[in-house]
Formats: sequence, C-alpha cells, structure tokens
Amino acid sequence: MPNLARPWSVVFLAGFIAYTAIRAVYARRCKRVPTAHRRVDALETALLLLVIPASLLLPLLYLFTPLLNFADYRLPAPAPWCGAALMLAALWLFWRSHADLGRQWSATLEVREGHALVDRGVYRRVRHPMYASIILWGIAQGLLLPNWLAGWCALATFSVLYVLRTPREERMMCEFLGQGYRDYMRKTGRLFPRIRRATQ
Ligand code: SAH
Repeated sequence: MPNLARPWSVVFLAGFIAYTAIRAVYARRCKRVPTAHRRVDALETALLLLVIPASLLLPLLYLFTPLLNFADYRLPAPAPWCGAALMLAALWLFWRSHADLGRQWSATLEVREGHALVDRGVYRRVRHPMYASIILWGIAQGLLLPNWLAGWCALATFSVLYVLRTPREERMMCEFLGQGYRDYMRKTGRLFPRIRRATQ
C-alpha cells in the first residue's frame, strides 16, 4: 500500500472517514422523514452516477491500490498544509449545514412532507453552504493527494453537478416554498454572502 504510507494520505483518510460519518449520521436521521415530492430525472441520475464514483471510489483506489499511480505528479511542499486547513473548514461547514438543514436534507432533489424554509445558522447569508463545503472539500482533496485523478476528479465532477443542479433546486424551492424562498434569495448569495443588500 505505497500511497497509504504517505503521511498526507493518512490525514486525507482521517478526514474522509469524518466526512462520510457526518453524512451517514444525518442521512440516517432523515430516513424516516416522508418525501412529498421527488424530482429525479435522467440528468439528476447521470450527475449522481458521475459524482459518487469520482468522489468515493477514486480516492480509495489511490489509497489502497497502485492502479492510479500512472497519474501521480508532484505538488509543491506547502500545498498539503493548505489542503489540511481547507479540509478542516470543509468538515466544519459540511457538519453545520447538515445540522441546520435537519429533516429538510436529501441527497437528490426532493421536498419533504411539511418542508420548511431554513434561513438560519449557515443558511442565514448563503443559500448553498453544503455545496460550498463539498467544493472546499474537493479543493482540499486536490491539495492532499498528488494524483490528477484521485486528487481533482471529485472537484471537477461536483462542479458540473453544482452548475446544472443549483438552478433546478432553486426553481423547485420557489415552487414549493413560494414567496418565502424568493425573499430569502434576495437576501442571500449562492456560495458567498451578498456584499450589497438587496434593494426593496
Ligand atoms: N443546496 C443546499 C441543500 C443541499 S441538500 C446546500 O448546498 O446547502 C438538497 C435539498 O435541500 C433540496 O432537495 C431541497 O429540498 C433542500 N433545501 C435546499 N435549500 C433549502 C432551504 N434553504 N430550506 C429548506 N430546504 C432546502
């Protein structure tokens, strides 16, 4: 297991376990919350089929087998330090967004029964803090794993999902939560807080 012997690989693996555990704990809590509406079409399925293997399978293949070694390259020495710092920030935001979204969470585009707008905590100024945390995680992964495929495919594939899914998710939220979500959109930014306040 040559790649797992690298200290930064161990740091990544520890973060990866924490990341997966956060998702597992909150997904389990939401399991019994009934779904009122599901918007999973061919595009949504294709996006998940692209993102899940790229973000789960490739790093594990890199850590536990030599199969991806042909795509190795050298990263500058400070890169993994930056990666570790970003990883901690990503884990915090990933945890907080799950905790704040609570029973409203779903892995695909869904509306729960009694779905309520969440506009507090990390959702107060940003509409997609969970996606922001996954993007941060993707950058951290690229800085910790010096391999083109295991390092950067998660970020590349999630970016495609983000660009295609976010407008659809926001349309769905407007449809189901109505004016409340439209007002919320005017006060918040997608990934970064709005600098200027929305005019009345
Ligand atoms: N895009 C958000 C949430 C991801 S989970 C983020 O990045 O933080 C996806 C589900 O969350 C969607 O299917 C939608 O039902 C729900 N959702 C998204 N934003 C919401 C909000 N502000 N309030 C309540 N539910 C929301």
